[in-house]
Amino acid sequence: KENNNIFVDDLKEEGEKRPIPNPCRTFLEAFELYPEIMENIERVGFVKPTPIQSQAWPVLLSGEDLIAIAQTGTGKTLAYLLPGFIHMDVRFLFISFICVPRDEQGGPGMLVLTPTRELALQIETECKKYRYKSYKSICIYGGGDRRGQINLVKSGVDIVIATPGRLNDLQMNELISLRSITYLVLDEADRMLDMGFEPQIMKILLDIRPDRQTVMTSATWPTGVRRLSKSYLKNPIMVYVGTLDL
Ligand code: ADP
Ligand code: MG
Repeated sequence: KENNNIFVDDLKEEGEKRPIPNPCRTFLEAFELYPEIMENIERVGFVKPTPIQSQAWPVLLSGEDLIAIAQTGTGKTLAYLLPGFIHMDVRFLFISFICVPRDEQGGPGMLVLTPTRELALQIETECKKYRYKSYKSICIYGGGDRRGQINLVKSGVDIVIATPGRLNDLQMNELISLRSITYLVLDEADRMLDMGFEPQIMKILLDIRPDRQTVMTSATWPTGVRRLSKSYLKNPIMVYVGTLDL
């Protein structure tokens, strides 16, 4: 019951469980093939991956869905952002052949849903700090300048960071298309549920292609979050840090 223990579980049935990728002990083990990402990490001066990152990166880079449960401040943002950037690259090869119809290839590829405006802005700051290639990110949240957000969407974006309420508003009014999204993050799922965002999340998810990669993060693992993960993730691997009542 030590607090920094890390656990990994394949949520598939007994007998169908996959081999779980080894955790990375260094940044290089995860991002050797991506010098631009290595440079950004070195510039910021981090010494080593946090426990959740060391297990999340190999899982996400192998293309699997992931549930990451760990307390606030454990580095979950980079745990999903960096593999997301890499996904954006691979996606261009993938979508032009089979995945996304030609007329939908121009839209955003990555969506992060998060409960509050403050979190959305923080995530966007991280996104810019680790800017990868020329991917354009925008923040969509309630109370913000709606017209400005709509114009930014129109000008073309790759990464959308949004609170569910405002994104659902733009979606319902056909001011944003979500059909090109292939990497989806449900960040702080427990807080989004506590804030009553489940109906908006449901409607947003109706427009997102089922053959996406999905990540869910949460600080806790209550019934509501389990239900959400069952509905929206495909054979996820679960990584959790600390102790958990399962
Ligand atoms: P969480 O989403 O789990 O609450 P954050 O992703 O916001 O946590 O990260 C908390 C802080 O830790 C941020 O300031 C972030 O820059 C920093 N951080 C992230 N990864 C590392 C790392 N590998 N080493 C040191 N600090 C890190
Ligand atoms: Mg976070």
